[in-house]
Amino acid sequence: ESAFARVPRAPEVPVYAVMAACSRDPSPVKLNLGMGVYRTEDGKPLLLNVVKKAEELLFSDPSANKEYLPITGLAEFRELSAKLIFGTDSPAIKENRVTTVQCLSGTGSLRIGADFLAKYYYQSTVYLPEPTYGNHPNFFIVAGLCLRTYRYYDPVTRGLDFQGFLEDLASAPPGAIVLLHACAHNPTGVDPTVEQWEEIRQIIRSKGLLPFFDCAYQGFVSGSLEDDARAVRKFVADGGECLVVQSYSKNMGLYGERVGALSVVCKTADVATRIESQLKLLIRPMYSNPPIHGAAIAAAILKDRNLFSEWTLELETMTKRLTCMREQLFDALHERGTPGDWTHILKHVGLFTFSGLKEEQIAFMTREFHIYMSSDGRINMAGLSTNTVPHLANAIHAAVT
Ligand code: PLP
Repeated sequence: ESAFARVPRAPEVPVYAVMAACSRDPSPVKLNLGMGVYRTEDGKPLLLNVVKKAEELLFSDPSANKEYLPITGLAEFRELSAKLIFGTDSPAIKENRVTTVQCLSGTGSLRIGADFLAKYYYQSTVYLPEPTYGNHPNFFIVAGLCLRTYRYYDPVTRGLDFQGFLEDLASAPPGAIVLLHACAHNPTGVDPTVEQWEEIRQIIRSKGLLPFFDCAYQGFVSGSLEDDARAVRKFVADGGECLVVQSYSKNMGLYGERVGALSVVCKTADVATRIESQLKLLIRPMYSNPPIHGAAIAAAILKDRNLFSEWTLELETMTKRLTCMREQLFDALHERGTPGDWTHILKHVGLFTFSGLKEEQIAFMTREFHIYMSSDGRINMAGLSTNTVPHLANAIHAAVT
């Protein structure tokens, strides 16, 4: 008998299960709206032109090598990432109150952040929005922290449950960690307004809660990297502390390169350096140091004026296509006279629409129309194209009538 005979079979991760079911389906009309990745009008992955150019630069650089990076990653990448999220003129950066470490994309950064908090922060309660990105609870569970949720999405309005959100923050224990999506909330596509962020900030600061931002979609809401950093910058501007996770998976299309960063914004430079010294000790036994290639690509784009502006244009093009898909899907449902109010498709932002479709309706759409999406009703808008919108609209129409 195997020494591992008692290993039980684990359930499949839902979003991967949907992907696998889709790839098994031989239908030529199948539509994959599951995993949160950008696709072109042809349904293909997008390798950004600036990424190609940055790679060419790296390949032709005679001083390039494949040495180990420091534990905290590529220095240039860390510095430029901090500036991208906090702003080039950020006082917190100038005062050396921020420590930024390169980690394995958003996921790895969240994991290091959660482990750091579990070890060095006095409060073990973490508040997550309901609903949230499926992997979020895992980071905090493995770190041994206690999970709670705050109200976020209102299924009736298909918008923000702002009152519920504020009430839950108000009743949180002092010092509780609050996970916030910096922009383009996954899975709902619902973000607070500027005014709402301000109220959220006030209550978080007045109660001494600790904001932990996850920024996986900077640029995907407005097409502007600056505008999408607004919520984070508001919290940094008040002088208070926070954690911020960045990912370049979506906005540079560097999914498989695993490029991201964790920043801790502190009140003093001394605390920031002490935190950095501890982050190194967390990283060292886990993976020793992060991979070099993706971070070098990102740094090459971030530091070169021309590449940077080309990047912002490509980002705008992606965002515009998402908006266009929202309009087309809305119009297609409108033309069909599909029962229900579908204006939320237009109102939601970022990569996703939280359709409001029920699990059995989605099962029907998969069975009859070969449409694959998360069972919570999340639609990856980038999975659509002008050609496939009618097919999805027909499926939704049939599912709700
Ligand atoms: N955070 C959110 C909200 C996400 O949607 C994702 C990916 O879908 C991630 C983090 C992690 O992505 P990555 O590890 O590729 O940066």
